[in-house]
Amino acid sequence: MKINLPFGNCKMYPITQLFGERFLYRGSIVSHKGVDWAMPKFTPLLAPFSGEVYRVEKQRDWGYGRTVYIRAKDDRGQRYEALLAHCEEILVEAGSSVKIGNVIAHSGRTGFWRGRNGYHVHFGLKVNNIYVDPLNYLDINNPNQEQLFPEKMDEAKLKAFLGDYKIKKGDTLWGIAKKFYGNGAHYIDIFNVNQDIIKNPNKIYPDTILRIPVLINKGI
Ligand SMILES: [Zn+2]
Repeated sequence: MKINLPFGNCKMYPITQLFGERFLYRGSIVSHKGVDWAMPKFTPLLAPFSGEVYRVEKQRDWGYGRTVYIRAKDDRGQRYEALLAHCEEILVEAGSSVKIGNVIAHSGRTGFWRGRNGYHVHFGLKVNNIYVDPLNYLDINNPNQEQLFPEKMDEAKLKAFLGDYKIKKGDTLWGIAKKFYGNGAHYIDIFNVNQDIIKNPNKIYPDTILRIPVLINKGI
């Protein structure tokens, strides 16, 4: 069965927690039943395979937060269930069918999260009702397969993942890039991920909320 990552542009998003890592949740040590990728709020999340949305949690504010669940059976009768957790918003309803690559949610940090600002997606996968490491099930014919294992970032690099910024009077993109990355020349990276809300990098307006992207492979 063809399974893809639940987002595009893989190289931008660092893995922040692998399958099987142990962490503290509500006073107990638990094993991480999925893979987390840090990403800016409102990153489009895609159906990792074609199937049926069998459950949505649109309001949950604990645990996985707002979550969308998809299931499918392959032609050998194996059952696959995926969940995308911590979404800001879910765009599909329970009972609907989705095709691989359809936008089904936007990323957020609802529910339980850790780290610098918490914006990430949690991708969980069950095969025949048992949680497995999604990285072992991704489609090997995916043309982006060389991107499936982004560089694991250390804590210092993760500081480059900063989330949102609300423009204040007198701000310039150059100044904002300098504030976040220490180098104004990265204004172009901020512009690139906000082209839906900024048409011209020299014209920005107070109270606009910008996405501040992770910069990988740029020595930050
Ligand atoms: Zn997670």
